[in-house]
Amino acid sequence: MSERFRIAIDGPSGAGKSTVAKLVASRLGIEYIDTGAMYRAIGLKMLRLGLEMEENDELQKMLDETDVDFEKERIYLDGEDVSDLIRTQEISKAASDCSAFRIVREKLVELQRAMGDRKSIIMDGRDIGTVVLKDSKQKFYLTATAEERAMRRYLELREKGTSEGYEQVLEDVIKRDYNDSHRDVSPLRQAEDAVLIDSTNMTIDEVVNFIIDSVTSQ
Ligand code: C5P
Repeated sequence: MSERFRIAIDGPSGAGKSTVAKLVASRLGIEYIDTGAMYRAIGLKMLRLGLEMEENDELQKMLDETDVDFEKERIYLDGEDVSDLIRTQEISKAASDCSAFRIVREKLVELQRAMGDRKSIIMDGRDIGTVVLKDSKQKFYLTATAEERAMRRYLELREKGTSEGYEQVLEDVIKRDYNDSHRDVSPLRQAEDAVLIDSTNMTIDEVVNFIIDSVTSQ
C-alpha cells in the first residue's frame, strides 16, 4: 500500500472509537493505537506503586523509567502484557485522573507521535486531532448521546458478568465526560477540521464504511 494513513478518532468514552478503529485498521491493513490504553497503563502503575494521585517528582521519576508499547494490539507496560488488567472501573478512574497531569500527557504524546512517524496508523483518544496528529488531514470526532453510550457499556459489562446497574454506568459516563472536557491540559474537544460522526443511530459497519470512504477518496 503506497498511501500513508494517519487517521485520528476522538470522542467521549463509549462512543465506539476502539471498535471502529480496530475494524478500520484491519480493513486498511494498518496499525491501531489505543491511546486510552496507554493512560490506563500509567494509571495501573501508579496504583501498583501506591503513588499519590498528584503531579510530583516521584511521578516524573516513574514516567522517566516507564516503557509503554504495543504489539499486535496488546499493550505492554515495562514488558508485561497488561491488556486485560487495565479494563476495570478502578483503572478507568485512575486513567482519567492521571490523564489530567501535564507530565503524563507530555510523556505519552511523545511516544504516540513517534509511533505515528514510523508507519500508517489509526489512533483513537481525546486529543489526537487537536494535539498528537494535529497536522493530519484524516480526523474524525465520533460521538453519541450519553444515554446511548451508557447503554452500550452497560450491555458490554453485563456480558462480562459485572453486575453494575445502568444508572450507575450512566453516572460514570457523565462524570468522565465532564472530567475529560474540563481539564486544563488538552481537554476533549472536536478539532476544527475534524468530521463529526454522531453514531447514536448508526451501525458499526456504517461508521467504519464512512471513515474508509472518506480517507480513501481524499
Ligand atoms: O479511551 P479510554 O476510556 O480507554 O481512556 C481512558 C482515559 O484516558 C479517559 O477517560 C481519558 O481521560 C484519558 N485519555 C486521554 N487522552 C487520550 C486517551 C485517553 O486523556 N488520548
